[in-house]
Amino acid sequence: MIQANDPSLKTWLEVPEGSDFPIQNLPFGVFRTQSNPAPRLCTAIGDYVIDLSVLNFLSVFDELDFPPEVFLSSSINNLMALGRPKALQLRNRLADLFHEGNTEIRDSAWHYLHPVEKVELLLPVQIGDYTDFYSSIEHATNVGSMFRDPANALLPNWRHLPVGYHGRASSIVVSGTPIRRPKGQTRPKDEEPPVFGPSRQLDFELETAFVIGKETALGQSVSTSEAEDHIFGMLLFNDWSARDIQKWEYVPLGPFLSKNFGSTVSPWVVTLDALEPFRVKGPEQEPSPLPYLQFQGKKNYDIRLEVAIRTAAGAEKTVCRSNFQYMYWNMCQQLAHHTVNGCNLRVGDLCASGTISGPTPDSYGSMLELAWKGTRPIDMPDGSIRTFIQDGDTVIVKGFAEKDGLRIGFGEAKGEVLPAF
Ligand code: CA
Repeated sequence: MIQANDPSLKTWLEVPEGSDFPIQNLPFGVFRTQSNPAPRLCTAIGDYVIDLSVLNFLSVFDELDFPPEVFLSSSINNLMALGRPKALQLRNRLADLFHEGNTEIRDSAWHYLHPVEKVELLLPVQIGDYTDFYSSIEHATNVGSMFRDPANALLPNWRHLPVGYHGRASSIVVSGTPIRRPKGQTRPKDEEPPVFGPSRQLDFELETAFVIGKETALGQSVSTSEAEDHIFGMLLFNDWSARDIQKWEYVPLGPFLSKNFGSTVSPWVVTLDALEPFRVKGPEQEPSPLPYLQFQGKKNYDIRLEVAIRTAAGAEKTVCRSNFQYMYWNMCQQLAHHTVNGCNLRVGDLCASGTISGPTPDSYGSMLELAWKGTRPIDMPDGSIRTFIQDGDTVIVKGFAEKDGLRIGFGEAKGEVLPAF
């Protein structure tokens, strides 16, 4: 039996050097083409998008007994709802079909194989509820130092619970969708009345997100040891933020219009199964959290993350290199905390990590921190400077895990900023 995670597996498809999508990844997405505009499920190998609905039509999944509508769908929600073991069976069967020793479907490749540049990748998940955490101690410390007292940067609750807030799912868009600069109320000068206009401090937040694949009943809680049964996979996430709007509005209930005008996700859901080889231990937690937040084993992942800014004229610079493993609170703790009061989960719910900053100034996951509230402007290759994001800039988030020659990547989550209406 072929296992998708077997690092020695090779495919008969061409995979460029350094590709995010070797045969061991097999993420899930949704796409359409000009000649067939019906959304359907896909996976990726190298620079190819593979139509799972056609493969199913070719009867190569018959032994797995999938309901056919699962593949002819505008989201992967129905696939996720069948459970992680079922999705793993599908990935193993795909690894079998595409490994170099198998000629079963090579002759019919023109039916199901598309170069990625010829397709439109759609939002892969029908997102239900969206929660954003605040779980990087470096990010929380930086923001606390800037806006409060460096000596007491973390608020008293921070080391005791994964702080989070409920966000807005309707404005989460897939990579490539432009983001309109938001307008809103700000107060540029303390003690003066607020003003209305386009945000002048538009920022990105480097985050990842995980998607729920198994529901719970209202009243039920998920323990840290059960949490991974409910987490189907991960995506890249840019939580666009208007700092000037945020600064004025966030007291006392947290972010509102400064966040809900748009968030960008990558088009591929990378399964937790594919990320298994990249588990690492997270930071020490001091003090030890309450029992419901304690956990066994390695719950963080070594995922390298970066953010690039590309100007309207095409000058591009990587401004941040961070890593998911810096996260103080892991996804299992976030989910245990989220449900400890009985809040129920639904398939398609999305939880974002919060900005992932690392320990060094080049690993900070937002312009707010990289340019330190505008005091340390970033030089761009074309001679211009950035303290926040300008109209016409494209922000590109990338991420991949790599170990012993195996690279499992996420592709990218990018968005161009358009001027305010
Ligand atoms: Ca955020």
